[in-house]
Formats: sequence, C-alpha cells, structure tokens
Amino acid sequence: MTDRYVVMGNPIAHSKSPLIHTAFAEATGQDLHYDRLLAPETDFAGTASAFFAEGGKGANVTVPFKEAAYQFADQLSARASAAGAVNTLIKTADGIVGDNTDGIGLVRDLLRVEPLEGKQILLMGAGGAARGVILPLLGENPARITLVNRTKAKAEELVAHFADARLEACDYAQLAGRMFDVVINATSASLAGSLPPLPAGVFARGALAYDMMYGKGETPFLHFAREQGVDLRLDGLGMLVEQAAAAFELWRGVRPDTLPVLTRLREGL
Ligand code: NDP
Repeated sequence: MTDRYVVMGNPIAHSKSPLIHTAFAEATGQDLHYDRLLAPETDFAGTASAFFAEGGKGANVTVPFKEAAYQFADQLSARASAAGAVNTLIKTADGIVGDNTDGIGLVRDLLRVEPLEGKQILLMGAGGAARGVILPLLGENPARITLVNRTKAKAEELVAHFADARLEACDYAQLAGRMFDVVINATSASLAGSLPPLPAGVFARGALAYDMMYGKGETPFLHFAREQGVDLRLDGLGMLVEQAAAAFELWRGVRPDTLPVLTRLREGL
C-alpha cells in the first residue's frame, strides 16, 4: 500500500506542500501520496489521531497548529523542544515523534548564499517563527544574534529561555547607529504590507537581507533593503522548500535535491 502523508492546517487550500513533496517523491523514486488535511480549529488532536489510526505515516503542520502538534506528539526532538512548536510528525514503532524543521530550513537556505560563522545577525520578531530558528542559527557559530521586537519584553523572554551569551534583546530605537551582516525578518509585518520600524543604516557592507515571508511581489522589508543598497535579498520560499526537504528526509531517509523544486515554485508564483 502507498504510504500516506499530509499537511495539516486551517486554512490549508493555499498550501504548496503537496506540490513540493510530490516533486521530491518523483525525483527520488519514493512511492508515497501527499495531500492537504483541513483540521477544525478546535480539534487538531482528533483529526491527527484519526489520520494516524487509519495508517498515515507522517504529517507536516502549519498555522495555527504548531503548538497543538507540540502537545500532541508522544516524543519531541531537541529542536522541537527548543522551538516550543512542531511542524513535522513522524509515526514510529514507539509512537508519534514531533520535530521542527523550520529552523534548519532557514539555515540551509541562508548557507546557500553565505556562511554564518562570525557574523552579526539581527533577527526581527519574537513570535513562533523567530523562536524556532534561534537554536539552528546558534549552531552555525555567529558572533552574535540580536533579537529585536516591537514588544521588547518578548525578545527578553526568548533571550532568558535560550540562555546563550551570544544572544541579546533590544527594541528598534536601540538599533540606531548599529550595523549587521545578516538581517532576518521573522515578523508578520509583511503579511499586513508593513515594515518594522528599522532605522536606516542597519545593513553592513555586503549584508544579506532575508524575509521569511514570500509571495508574488517584493515584500516591504526587501523593498527597504534594496533602497538601502543591499544586493543580497532573499524571501522565504527557499526556507519553505528546505524545511520540506528536511521533513522528507526524516520520513523517507533520503535527502531530495531542492533547487529544481524551488525554481519551479518561483516560476509559478
Ligand atoms: P507570530 O504572530 O507568532 O509573531 C509575529 C511577530 O511579528 C511578533 O514578534 C510581532 O511583534 C511582530 N510584528 C507584527 N507586526 C509588526 C510590525 N508592524 N512591526 C514590527 N513587528 C511586528 O508570527 P510567526 O512568528 O508565526 O510568523 C512570522 C512570519 O514568519 C510570518 O510572516 C510567517 O508567514 C513567516 N514564516 C515563514 C516560514 C517559511 O517557511 N518561509 C515558516 C514560518 C513562518 P509583537 O510581539 O510586538 O506583537
């Protein structure tokens, strides 16, 4: 019988995950079926339990269920524990394992462009997306990660949670006069068509600007970065494809080539 996988969310009709995983399966010769699964907002656990009881092998989890999936899993990986959220569920002989591949997805996409070792990184936002990428970013040995958030207390909470001397918290006003090699937008500001209150001059020479958001046009943050003279600008489509590849590898033990799928998705935006 063909192994079944799903992406669970609400809404879910827009998800590109079936296209990505079907392309990975074709390219690696894996026999699997990957579909969307809409869960009611109030019953993630019931929907996930039924899927696995009917033989499902694994699931990706997206908005708004990453915390619910964290609660649902029988066991958690270290990176899922650190993130406080799960985006990948894996059925094993010992129960359902929860993992989180968002952070490694971001890191792999960044490393495609440049190494992070010794870099000054500015991470904007202190929500689920920011929290999920901190541990994998620290794993690349940056000089420092500065967490900036509109509500500074939330950035301070994350710094206390990770307790790593290379992490610091600040608010946007405190960025005046400072420069960073890598600036990552992990806020949801782009979704609302707005820009976090970044002062001019935060990009060091040769800096990389990364927006986790992706879509057809340029995001407000990447527009700002271009106006600031930043040549290296990436949106989050690569992160989406890389987190999917890491999940696929967890399920199937095979690491798919991501570039052809990324190119196809980019053409279809
Ligand atoms: P959350 O709702 O958990 O957090 C939102 C964060 O954005 C908060 O820190 C909030 O600050 C900040 N924020 C919102 N609006 C503004 C603004 N106008 N100016 C400054 N800060 C603002 O969202 P998530 O962390 O779950 O997601 C963030 C983004 O990451 C989304 O755009 C999502 O699409 C993207 N993402 C992309 C992925 C990919 O694969 N490419 C994977 C996961 C997420 P405050 O605390 O002050 O409210």
